[in-house]
Amino acid sequence: MAHEINRDRGISTIPPRILMGPGPSMAHPRVLQAMMQNMIGYLDPDFITVMDDVVSMLKKVFGTTQNTLAISGTGSAGMESGLSSLLEPGDRVIMCVYGFFCERMVDMAERIGAEVIPIRADWGKPFPEELLEKALRTHTDVKMVTAIHGETSTGVSQPLEALSALAKQSETLFMVDTVTTLGGNEVTVDRWEIDYAYSASQKCLGAPPGMAPVAFSDKSLNRIRDRDTKPSSWYLDLNLLSKYWGEERVYHHTAPVSMLLGLREALSIVLDEGLKERYERHKKNARALVQGLQALGLKTVAPEESRLDQITPVWIPEGVDDDLVRGLLLEEDSIEIGKGLGDFAGRVWRIGLMGESSKKEYVLMLLSAMERILPRAGYEVAVGEAVSAASRVYSED
Ligand SMILES: *Cc1c(COP(=O)(O)O)cnc(C)c1O
Repeated sequence: MAHEINRDRGISTIPPRILMGPGPSMAHPRVLQAMMQNMIGYLDPDFITVMDDVVSMLKKVFGTTQNTLAISGTGSAGMESGLSSLLEPGDRVIMCVYGFFCERMVDMAERIGAEVIPIRADWGKPFPEELLEKALRTHTDVKMVTAIHGETSTGVSQPLEALSALAKQSETLFMVDTVTTLGGNEVTVDRWEIDYAYSASQKCLGAPPGMAPVAFSDKSLNRIRDRDTKPSSWYLDLNLLSKYWGEERVYHHTAPVSMLLGLREALSIVLDEGLKERYERHKKNARALVQGLQALGLKTVAPEESRLDQITPVWIPEGVDDDLVRGLLLEEDSIEIGKGLGDFAGRVWRIGLMGESSKKEYVLMLLSAMERILPRAGYEVAVGEAVSAASRVYSED
């Protein structure tokens, strides 16, 4: 029973789950093993090696030769570190807003006391670059432009090059959320001229939640060092953090040792697989899933040409009980899928295929479970068709 602590084997246990929501996704067994090692000091030379490994592997994954480190905290800590380190009270920031997490960025920037100019566009479609162009013509002295690469609430993939080019023309910093995309989609910080990108360990990197890898340009670092005021957050001050992660090794806070051991293992698994191969895997599994869902008569929120491979939001059919279906999937098949957020609450399911969760067997298991469960929620389906449609994608080559 869920509320009883199970101490059969001496430790309190939790049931195994197949995680197919918006994160956390499955953690690679090697990552979990790496985290079970003995404790070590955060300035121990052997731990410094771990940190250096994380920095150099993050550079490869983020596509940058500039600066990387991992913040203690989840993806939102990466978001908050960027905003609070790069913006001073009163600074003008233009935020491209097209989903739930974009709104979270707006909320954070307002709390920092920045002058926020949110440019809102429709959820479920890519953000039109003309809106940013117009905003940059209207407002002068803009310090930063923000965008999200993969809006997990809508499942839309946002092209970044045009937005970045506009930010550069106006000589403003460009900050991007790559929480859902890093490790599952191409992210190239240097080529796309991103000044600050942040991600999270638990989505496409195959580690548990708890670390926020970030990449930032030399220009950003100079901007932080030239600030007139100290950043509102001491814990997330990117300048102080970079002094601990850099050569000076100035103590800041106790590094979450086990989490960093896990992240190092996760990054080495990502690079062993190969970035291109990893992106291809995400693409293929997403295609099989979508074919299967379409065979069930379900419709994806994002249009085909801008669909994310890591998360597939689908509209819940008319009259079908959201909680009932998700509850049965969890209870009978141990599969977790995500519910809708914000404007999409109660209207969509979000199916994640991120990192270790992006596997053929999970796609087929979920589709087969849906074929069995949906009719019990009053939605008739032709049993076997979804699984066949997905299988066809896998037998293509
Ligand atoms: C999950 C997510 C976040 C929040 O990350 P946490 O790790 O939950 O703090 C931010 N942005 C996007 C796009 C996400 O998908």
